[in-house]
Amino acid sequence: VILDDRMTSRQCDHRWQVTAFHYGELVSTRAALYHDWNAYGEPDGPASLAYYFWLLEREGEVVLVDTGFDPEVAVRRGRAPLADPVGLLASHGLEPERVGTIVLSHLHYDHVGNVARFPEATLHVPGEELEFWHSPAAKREQFAAHVEQAELQAIERAESEGRVARYEAGQLFPGVDALHLPGHTPGLHGLLVQGRERPVLLTSDAVHLYEELERRRPFALFTDLAAMRRSYDDVDRIRATTGALLVPGHDPGVGRGVTPVGTTAEQG
Ligand SMILES: [Zn+2]
Repeated sequence: VILDDRMTSRQCDHRWQVTAFHYGELVSTRAALYHDWNAYGEPDGPASLAYYFWLLEREGEVVLVDTGFDPEVAVRRGRAPLADPVGLLASHGLEPERVGTIVLSHLHYDHVGNVARFPEATLHVPGEELEFWHSPAAKREQFAAHVEQAELQAIERAESEGRVARYEAGQLFPGVDALHLPGHTPGLHGLLVQGRERPVLLTSDAVHLYEELERRRPFALFTDLAAMRRSYDDVDRIRATTGALLVPGHDPGVGRGVTPVGTTAEQG
C-alpha cells in the first residue's frame, strides 16, 4: 500500500488541489437568470446565483483563478457579499502579496473585482477578452453594464507595468489547460485542471448553473448565443473524454464556504 501511495504521488507531480471559495450570492428568479424563460412554458420560480473564485494549489505554488467582485461594487449592484474575497483568501492562509499568479477567465465585474489588491501578481488574461472590451462593440449597454471601467483600467495599468500575460487556448501551466468557451463573452476561457484525484473542469461562466448545461437552457447574458450553445457542447465533450468533474461558475450546489472540489471528501 505504501509503495502504491509513493507511485501515485510520483505520478501526481502536476496535480493540483482545487478549491472553490463562495463569497457572495444573488437571490433571483428563473425568468431573470435564463434567456427567454417564457419559451419553456413553465411557471417562474426562485433561483439564486452563488459567487465563487477558485484556487489551485500544489507544493509551493498557488494560482488564483478570478478575483471575485469588489464588495462595494456588489452592494451598488444589489448583490450580497458574504465575505470580502481578499479577506477570505487571507483566512485560508494566503495573504494577497503571496499571490504571484492570477488567471482571469473573463472581465466581468464579478471575476476581476479585486485585481488592484494584488499588486505583485502577474495577470493571465485572455487576449481576445482584452481586445473585445477595448472595442466599440463593448460600449453597447447590454455588454458595458457588466464591467467596471475602473477595473478594466486597473488591468491596463498592470499591463503597462509588464504584469499582464495574454493567453489563448492551450497549456497555461503543467496540469492546467485553458479552454476557449466563448459566447457569454468573446474571450471567456475555462480551465481543465489535473486535480489530485481526477480532472476538474472549471467552466467559469461558460456554464453558470448545472441546469443550464443539462437542459441546454441558455443563461440570460451573452454576447453570442450560438457560440454559447456550441460551448455547452464543447464542455460536454471535454467532460466525456476526460472524465472531469464539472464545476460551473455560479451554481449554489458547488458548495458553501470554502469547498475542496474534485476530491472524495466533497463527494460523500
Ligand atoms: Zn460571473
